[in-house]
Amino acid sequence: MSNQLTIAVSKGRVLEDTLPLLEAAGIELAEDPKASRRLILSTSRDDIRILQVRTSDVPTYVEHGAAHLGIVGKDVLLEHDGVGLYEPLDLDLAHCRLMVARPAGSERPRRRLRVATKFIASARRHYARLGLQVELIKLYGSVELAPLVGLADEIVDLVDTGNTLRANGLEAVETVADISARLVVNKAAMKTRHSQIRGIVDAIAARVAEGRKGRVGA
Ligand code: AMP
Repeated sequence: MSNQLTIAVSKGRVLEDTLPLLEAAGIELAEDPKASRRLILSTSRDDIRILQVRTSDVPTYVEHGAAHLGIVGKDVLLEHDGVGLYEPLDLDLAHCRLMVARPAGSERPRRRLRVATKFIASARRHYARLGLQVELIKLYGSVELAPLVGLADEIVDLVDTGNTLRANGLEAVETVADISARLVVNKAAMKTRHSQIRGIVDAIAARVAEGRKGRVGA
């Protein structure tokens, strides 16, 4: 196995948003990820490589030590009981909310609710907190469709602008969790490669803090 430090990042938008943070730690991609089909990307630092993985797989790579660090949405972490992971840093990126939504103007039925979602664990915890009996229906995409065709009474899904809900006659009624991208670290690696990882975490944290200050001052 390579002795390089390996960082797993979800493909697409999160990877693009993350590049300035990695640059703050002196890590620049050697090739454009959009132009390349390669899943292992080399960087300007010989000791660091990036893995492009599906977002829901990031915690798995990090927990098993195939990657030492990972960048992934809190929504994914909430679904993953990551005993082998530290979550030292909120990257203040890719903000959205995990919300309950249902047809606009409708009431919550009194019978056992049917809830469609990709986020089964988060939804289960949310309805348990409310003391509501639910049947959870796992979907893998276009969750907004479920209440429109009688598959579910409600959905639990990510909401950013709310445009997708509105376009489908749904309204958000409860927040399950505030979501943003997080840095995660393999617990064993945090000990065995402490100074290397600490240097990266601190450089990224400083850049995130700078970004926050910039926004407050704007
Ligand atoms: P919006 O119409 O802006 O509320 O966006 C809602 C759609 O975008 C839903 O289908 C979500 O699954 C997806 N979405 C919104 N924010 C995020 C995010 N930060 N990460 C992943 N998917 C998101």
